[in-house]
Amino acid sequence: MQIILLGAPGAGKGTQAKRLSAKYNLLHVSTGDIFRENIKNSTDIGIIAKSFIDKGQLVPNDVTVEIVKERLEQEDCKNQGYLLDGFPRNIEQAIELDKFSKIDLVLNIGVDINKLINRITGRRVCPKCGASYHVTTLNGETLCKACKTELILRDDDNEETVTKRIEVYNKQTAPLIDYYKKQGKIATVDGNLGIDETFNQIVKILG
Ligand code: ADP
Ligand code: ZN
Repeated sequence: MQIILLGAPGAGKGTQAKRLSAKYNLLHVSTGDIFRENIKNSTDIGIIAKSFIDKGQLVPNDVTVEIVKERLEQEDCKNQGYLLDGFPRNIEQAIELDKFSKIDLVLNIGVDINKLINRITGRRVCPKCGASYHVTTLNGETLCKACKTELILRDDDNEETVTKRIEVYNKQTAPLIDYYKKQGKIATVDGNLGIDETFNQIVKILG
């Protein structure tokens, strides 16, 4: 099964993707993670990507489409279903994706826009295993519960960049809901609920 997770920054795509990939044995393909890995290794793609990500803008389509295409052409993705997290993020990317992938379902995680800034600026992530937490539940703890690595605040999780990312989402990404409605592929879940409740809604949809 090929699934897209759609939602604003902070909607919980990454969190749900991790759980879903474990339960349904799907590969988790996150463009944000791929870019961050490239940034860490100072690759050419990483250097380009960082200049856009730090400003809250989308990385150009040619770069982004190419890395996704390359990833999906690898052997594991041919033999196993996958979850796309963070791609596509605009109509052009969706049109390109339709040329090299057959999507079965698009899960739209809806969240009240006014919740997003707090969710993201309070987010702390593990640079090693990718787990993410919110300061309100960490109670001052600074280490990842799963692997004991020091948690970090992502460079692009400051209020100014988040505001820009939400604006980009509203303008460029939200129109994808209609795009996939027309293809009859959209299912919407309520991302305002807790992590477990949202997950349970998705599980019901997947059966
Ligand atoms: P979030 O969903 O919380 O915004 P991501 O980790 O998915 O975080 O993405 C971080 C940044 O990486 C985005 O703000 C954007 O700059 C870049 N990025 C990720 N996916 C794409 C994409 N499909 N197209 C263009 N840029 C992307
Ligand atoms: Zn960790």
